[in-house]
Amino acid sequence: MLCPCGSDRAYSHCCLAVILAEKSATSPEQLMRSRYSAYAKKNAQYIYLTYATSSQAEQLIEDIEQWAEQTQWLKLVIHHSSDYQKDLANNNNAQVEFSAFYQYQGQLWQMRERSNFVVEQGNWRYLDGEVSDSNELAKPKRNELCFCGSNKKFKQCCAKSF
Ligand SMILES: [Zn+2]
Ligand SMILES: [Zn+2]
Repeated sequence: MLCPCGSDRAYSHCCLAVILAEKSATSPEQLMRSRYSAYAKKNAQYIYLTYATSSQAEQLIEDIEQWAEQTQWLKLVIHHSSDYQKDLANNNNAQVEFSAFYQYQGQLWQMRERSNFVVEQGNWRYLDGEVSDSNELAKPKRNELCFCGSNKKFKQCCAKSF
């Protein structure tokens, strides 16, 4: 099975290995991808545990669980990853900007976020993010190309999640 994060690699060799802690995320983008895949697989525990400690205090695992249950994550697009080695040297937060497409209450949604990442005890953690855009999109017609970039017709692709 292909990884939900859109890497074109097998899930078991991509985000699952990070989620199961077989290997740690070597970059903020890798952590971001694994958190996206955890949402797609409704693994609230992992999402909770990969928050920075200060942010974890503001989160309830039940809320994450509920949100993951109510949504179907369809597509991730990474727009930009900062040069995290430079960020670390300058004591800045590393950043990843992405868009995610998801199904919520039968509708298609898109959100764009710039996320901040920090290192805690040698591990990348998600600090917080600024959502710059969050809106409902018109669903493609059944025979139109899917919004997700798969080059398949909508009815043969993400329509299955609605
Ligand atoms: Zn992945
Ligand atoms: Zn699709």
